Formats: sequence, C-alpha cells, structure tokens
Amino acid sequence: MDFAPTAEQQELRDRVIRFAKTTIGTRAAEHDREGTFDEDGWKLCADFGVLGWPIASEYGGSGYDPLTAIMAYEGLGYGCADNGLVFAINNHVFACAVYIADHGTEEQRRRWLPPLCDGSMVGAHALSEPETGSDMLALTTKAVRSGDGYVLTGTKKFISNGPRADLFIVFARTSETEAPQRSISAFVVERDTPGLSTELIPKAGLRGTPMGEIVFDGCVLREDQRLGAEGAGYQLFTSTMEWERGFMFASGVGVLARLLDRCVEYASTRQQFGRAIGAFQAVSHKIADMRVRLELARLLLYKVGWLRSRGRLALHEASMLKLYVSESLSVSALDAMQIHGARGYTEELGIERELRDVLAGTIYGGTSEIQRSIIAGLLGVPTSV
Ligand SMILES: Cc1cc2nc3c(=O)[nH]c(=O)nc-3n(C[C@H](O)[C@H](O)[C@H](O)COP(=O)(O)OP(=O)(O)OC[C@H]3O[C@@H](n4cnc5c(N)ncnc54)[C@H](O)[C@@H]3O)c2cc1C
Repeated sequence: MDFAPTAEQQELRDRVIRFAKTTIGTRAAEHDREGTFDEDGWKLCADFGVLGWPIASEYGGSGYDPLTAIMAYEGLGYGCADNGLVFAINNHVFACAVYIADHGTEEQRRRWLPPLCDGSMVGAHALSEPETGSDMLALTTKAVRSGDGYVLTGTKKFISNGPRADLFIVFARTSETEAPQRSISAFVVERDTPGLSTELIPKAGLRGTPMGEIVFDGCVLREDQRLGAEGAGYQLFTSTMEWERGFMFASGVGVLARLLDRCVEYASTRQQFGRAIGAFQAVSHKIADMRVRLELARLLLYKVGWLRSRGRLALHEASMLKLYVSESLSVSALDAMQIHGARGYTEELGIERELRDVLAGTIYGGTSEIQRSIIAGLLGVPTSV
C-alpha cells in the first residue's frame, strides 16, 4: 500500500494551491456580504482548467484520473478562501458535467461538455422540491410524453447555482404506473427554455453560490434532452451520487487543513497569561483533534479516489466520506471560532464565514441521517431509505 502522491500529483496540488491563494478568493468577504456570484473567479478557474479536471480531454477537460482530480480539488478547497465559489464549482462539475460525461450519448457530450469545461455555461442539478427532500422517489415534477418529446411541469427548490445556471440536470417523473425506482427520468434543460423561471433563495452561508427555486411551467423538451433511458433516473442518480458525495467533499478536506493551519498559527502567536494560548492544554487538544479529523478525512478521500481510479464501486466509502467530512467540518469550524475568541466571532478574520459555510455540508447531497441509514443499509440492516 502506497499512501504517497506521485510527483505529478504533488506538483499539481502545489500549483493549484498557489493559483487558489493568489488568483481567486481574494474578494470572498465581499461576495459573502453581497451574495454575488464571482464571475471573474469563475472565468479564471475555467482558464486554469478547474471546471473540467475529471472530464476527458476530447470534450474539453483535463482527463485527470479520479484520484488525481481529488487531490487537485483538495488543493482548491485549501487555497481558495471563497467557499461559495468552490461550492459553485463543485455543483457544476460533480452534479452536472459528470452526469453528462457518465451517462450522456456521444452527441450530448459533444454538445454540452465543452461549454461546461470552458465555463461559458454554468451547470446545476435540480432534484429537490418544496415537498420532496430526502425521499427523492416521492418527487412530483412531471415530464409527460408529448409528440416526440416531453412537457416538463413542476417546481424545484434549493438548487445551487440555480439563478445563474445555463444548464440544469432535472429529475422528473415519467411514469405513474411503474415501480418508483423505474418511474423517474433525468433531463438536460437549457436556461432559455420557454416556461423556465428562477428565483433567488437567500441563505446562511456559501453565499457566492446563488441558490434558487426553479419553476418549469410546461417546458417543451426534445427526446434527445433525456439523459439515459426513460425510467433510469434513479439509477443515474445513485451511481453518480458517488461523485457528488465522494468528490464534492475533496475541497472540504482542504478546508479542514486550512482551519487547522489557521488555528496552529493563532494558538502559537496569541498571548494570554504571559504565554501563547496553545500552551494551554484545553486549546492544544482541540488542535490535536482537528489534526486527527483531517488525517482520517484525507484517508477516506484518497480511498474513494483510489477505488474510482480502478473502476471499482465506492458507494459505501463515498457515504462514509460525506458523513465524516461534513460533520468534521462543523466541529472543526466551531473549534476554530472558539480558539480565535471574539476575533473568530466577528467578521475580522473570516472564521465566522467559514463556520456559516461549512454547516450546510451535513444537509446537501443527502443529510447525515440519510448517510447513516445508507451505511447501515449496505451492511444489511433494514432501513427506510
Ligand atoms: C446549501 C445547500 C445546497 C443544496 N443544493 C441542492 C442542489 O443543487 N440541488 C438539489 O436538488 N438540492 C439541493 N439542496 C437540497 C438538499 O439536497 C436537501 O436539503 C436534502 O436532500 C434534505 O432535504 P430537506 O432539506 O427537504 O430535508 P427533509 O428531507 O425534509 O429532512 C428534514 C430532517 O429530517 C431528517 N429525515 C428525513 N428523512 C429521514 C429518515 N428517513 N431517517 C432519518 N431522518 C430523516 C433529515 O435528515 C433532516 O434532518 C441543497 C441544500 C443545501 C442546504
């Protein structure tokens, strides 16, 4: 077993960290305050190749194997202070472009992947609805057969990138009679489709990623906008969720490392009672626990990348990774605020922003409760999900 990155992976991660620290994320506080999508940062990331790292080069991507891509996104999460921009990228790549790469026809890939990789299109993933969250099989948005296509009607909610997106992966019910697992289909829907409208949903953190409600009011879709077979939407979702749960949290591992570095620095320099606060065990033990969480998160992350790079399933590992990294982020960000005292609570250092940003991780992509049920279910325990 070799845990060391190759020289190329190490060089790539270092290069990504340098780019992320110096070129993007410098206006994180402003984007957070104003809730603005960082158009300049997006373009810079596109030019650097970020939007297509795991996508094959023939479609405009870099063609990195999953493990290499994971290390690059970890570096992005570590170096980029704007978690909102990184979350927008994660959604674009892992919840939109990867769907098309994995499940699209050759024509669909040629049509949509190049503009997604060069950043001229922003992607989104529209599954959740006002009344349908964890129980995706209960979704009510409908795509009804009409002529040689479909008519799409329904409302999606909490959609990341929604108000800004040009392209949506939309899940809709295509049958009222089939078993639930065979009654949902996935579609690629472009923003300028008549009948599509969006509305911004304000939220606590990750404000550089605009979140929206999306209404489809009788949108006419062509047959060739369906992704995969009719009724295969649930299978598409579960297989691609490995990317979303596993890879979206690569940047989160980078955030764990950044929080740790900041706490080590602060605990070594902030003086109280005539010594650095790190000299107090109550502080240093928090930092030690942050380090342990980072190490375990990174091991799980690389295992998911390693499995995927060998073409092996990583469903169980991706759920464990998502659960562990998201919960570790919440604990470590809270500890980071405590270690930074009042400065951590105010806007001065951006620690409170980190905390607001990471809290959503236990909700999106399947809540912690759902991940625990999936993990138990994969062990043969009877569960409701
Ligand atoms: C920042 C952010 C970004 C998001 N981006 C997107 C996006 O781009 N696209 C998209 O489609 N959706 C997105 N979502 C929505 C997200 O996927 C849902 O919030 C999530 O699936 C949970 O659904 P819900 O919020 O409706 O909660 P509910 O399903 O209503 O659950 C509420 C509570 O009940 C618990 N619960 C529900 N069922 C069970 C059960 N069987 N066992 C135990 N506990 C249970 C949940 O764990 C949770 O604690 C985003 C959410 C957030 C916060």
